[in-house]
Amino acid sequence: MNNNKLIKCYGCKAEIKNMDGPKHAYIGSDSGCWDVFCGVLAKEYTEYNELWQTHRLTVDTYAAQHPGNPGRREIQSVFIHLTRLYLQIERGLDGKRANAAMLNISRFKSQYVWLDPVPDFTGTININDVAMARDISEHKHFVELWAKSVWQAWSRHHETIKYFVEHNKIMQPVRREFVHGK
Ligand SMILES: [Zn+2]
Repeated sequence: MNNNKLIKCYGCKAEIKNMDGPKHAYIGSDSGCWDVFCGVLAKEYTEYNELWQTHRLTVDTYAAQHPGNPGRREIQSVFIHLTRLYLQIERGLDGKRANAAMLNISRFKSQYVWLDPVPDFTGTININDVAMARDISEHKHFVELWAKSVWQAWSRHHETIKYFVEHNKIMQPVRREFVHGK
């Protein structure tokens, strides 16, 4: 295989190295893209030493930009990550509270659906853009732009996600936590 040749990731359409390597079991990315993503995660864990400022948003955005094919795990993954993007982008929850709101989400799993059609992410911000950040403030800025870009690409399905969150009162445990000041 020619490792110098760039190809387009079949998920996010980023230009990536054509390489053999590990891939996630159901997040639909090519190995070259997954490799860049793992580098970004490594920076979050070590250099930036932060778990809650952007990490949740990074993972949700990456998964939402790589929906893969409609199988059971993919349906669940895409629906959950998009729901958490909604909570963070449209409802202003930080990563920690968005995470807390989702802890018991599996009781609603019968409502998860495959969101068809999935977007063509050509022209959206991708992991290559995020990987260019030189410090944590650039990183945070790029991740936020990327998340909004990916969320926007899913605009056809915003109403479905919004209905799921509001109808099931997903944010209620988080509101209780605010009131009791934990
Ligand atoms: Zn990709």
